[in-house]
Amino acid sequence: MNVYTKERGLKKLKAGVTFADYKAKFPTAIKVNVPNMQTLKKWTYKGSCKAPDGCIVEPDGNCSHGFDSWLLILGYI
Ligand SMILES: [Zn+2]
Repeated sequence: MNVYTKERGLKKLKAGVTFADYKAKFPTAIKVNVPNMQTLKKWTYKGSCKAPDGCIVEPDGNCSHGFDSWLLILGYI
């Protein structure tokens, strides 16, 4: 499972670590599904992108909750 925090960025939980464990340490953590390449290409083409919390943002922008776009997080911009 992948998790995201503004402080630590994108992390993959190690085997045996639950989301509840991680959230206890990092209360702002959210569960995320990392978008696949096809989705990222579509967002680049459309000129809009999603942030980890589901907001629609500029490809090189962030949402009102402070999350960067997936294209920024994954280093495509
Ligand atoms: Zn947001």
